Amino acid sequence: MTLTDLTLTEALAKLRSGEIKATELTQAYLDRIALIDPKIDAYLTVTGELAMEQARRADARRAAGDDAPLLGVPLAIKDVLCTQGVRTTAGSRILSDFVPPYTATAVQKLFSAGAVMLGKTNLDEFAMGSSTENSGFCPTRNPWKLDRIPGGSSGGSAAAVAAHVAAGALGTDTGGSVRQPAAMCGVVGIKPSYGRVSRYGLIAFASSLDQVGTFGRTVRDAALLLGVIAGHDECDSTSMNTPVPDYSATLTGDVKGLRIGVPKEYFLPGMQPEVEQAVRAAVEQLRTMGAAVREVSLPHTDYGIPIYYLLAPAEASANLARFDGVRYGRRVTRPGMWPTYKATRGQGFGPEVKRRIMLGTYALSAGYYDAYYLKAQKGRTLLKHDFDQAFTQVDVIATPTTPRTAFRIGEKTDDPLQMYLEDVFTLPANLAGICGVSLPCGFDGEGLPIGLQLLGPAFGEPAILRAAYAYEQATEWHKRSPALG
Ligand code: GLN
Repeated sequence: MTLTDLTLTEALAKLRSGEIKATELTQAYLDRIALIDPKIDAYLTVTGELAMEQARRADARRAAGDDAPLLGVPLAIKDVLCTQGVRTTAGSRILSDFVPPYTATAVQKLFSAGAVMLGKTNLDEFAMGSSTENSGFCPTRNPWKLDRIPGGSSGGSAAAVAAHVAAGALGTDTGGSVRQPAAMCGVVGIKPSYGRVSRYGLIAFASSLDQVGTFGRTVRDAALLLGVIAGHDECDSTSMNTPVPDYSATLTGDVKGLRIGVPKEYFLPGMQPEVEQAVRAAVEQLRTMGAAVREVSLPHTDYGIPIYYLLAPAEASANLARFDGVRYGRRVTRPGMWPTYKATRGQGFGPEVKRRIMLGTYALSAGYYDAYYLKAQKGRTLLKHDFDQAFTQVDVIATPTTPRTAFRIGEKTDDPLQMYLEDVFTLPANLAGICGVSLPCGFDGEGLPIGLQLLGPAFGEPAILRAAYAYEQATEWHKRSPALG
C-alpha cells in the first residue's frame, strides 16, 4: 500500500483505526514531495519540520482519545493565506520574506481539527491569473502533462492534490481560481458561497469576490474540508452567521428529483468539442440517474468578463496600496518617501499586478467612475438577477468549468485578453456570490482532464455536493492519476 495514494477519507479511516500513524503518513508525503515536486513545482515552501511536529502532536492527541475531524491529515495551503511564523508570499517578490504574525482563520480551523501542514503552494502573484505563470517565483507544471499549465491562480494547490503530494488543499477563488485549476488538474474544487468561509488572514485581491475554497481527490474529501473551514468568524464581518450543514450527510449518491439547468450561453462556438461532449454526457448521466434536466438562460453571461475585469482590478488597486515597503515585506530604499514607494512597488510587483493596479486606478478615478466602475456594478446586479431567476426553476446549474483543457506553458502569456477569456464560465459565480464545484468528467484526446462545473444558489452547497457526489459515484474519472513515478 502506498500511503500517498489513499484519499483523504481513506487515510483518515486508517488513522482512526490505528492502522497507520500521522507521523508515518506525513513522512510518506514529505518523501514524495522530495521526489515529485521538483518536476511540477507545486510548493513554494515545504514545512517539513513543522509538519512532523504537528503529526507527532496529532498522534499524541489520538492516543489521548481525541477524534478531531482531520486529526493527522497532511494538507497543502495556498501561499496567499497567512500562516504565523511561516513565510507567506502571495506569489509576489514584494512579500518574498514576509512572515505573518498571525494565522488565517480558515487555516487555524484546519489546525484545530488536527490537520498537518506540508507547506505553502504556488500561485499567480496576488492570485491574479489563470495559469500560475504570473507567480513571481516560478510556474507550476500540470502533473498530467509537464509542458502544460495547471490552471490558476491556485495552480500549486490543484497540482499538489493531483500529483498526490498532499491529501487535500486550500485555495482561493475570486473569479475561478479554485474551480479552473481543479478542472485542469482533474481534481475536485469547491468555491463556497460568498460569506460561507472567513477571509480573515487571506491577503486580499478583490474583497467583494474573494472566497477560500477546498481541493480534494474526491467530492467527499473536498466537502469534508469545507465543513471544517466554513462558519462565522468575528474577525470577518462578511462571514455569515448561518449554521454550517453537515455536508457529508448530503452525499447520498441519489439525485432523484433534483432539478438541473443547462444554460445555453455556456456552450460557445470556439470551445473545444471534447469539452462540450464530456459535459453534455455528464448531464445525460445525471438525467438517467433521476435528475430533471432542462435548459435555462443566463442572458448577461457575455458581460461577465468586462464586468469582472473592471471590478476586480478596481478593488485590487485599493487593496494593494498597502504594499509600500514601509509596513510589509520588501523595501527598496531611495532618498525620500515617494521615491522609496516607487522603487519598492516598481521592483516588487510583476507586470500583471501592475496592469491591474493601473486598470483599477483608472476605472476609479474622478470623471471615469460613473462610466466604468458604477456601470460595472449595475451590470453585476443584472448578472446576479440572471442566476436568481434561473434558481427559481432549477436547484443546480451544470456547465463546463473551462472552454478548453490545459494549454501550453507560455501559450497565452503575451496576450492578457486571451488569458482573461479562460474565466468566462467561472467568474459569473463570484460576481453573483453563489457557490460552485468543479469535478472531473472526462479526458480529451491528449489525456488532459475535463471539468464539470455545478453551480448552486448562495448557501446552496448541499445541492451541488449531492449532485457532484452522485455523478462521481457513477463514474470512474476520479480514480485516474497522472503517471509521475
Ligand atoms: N483568473 C482570474 C483573474 O485573473 C481569477 C483569479 C482568481 O480567482 N483569483 O483574476
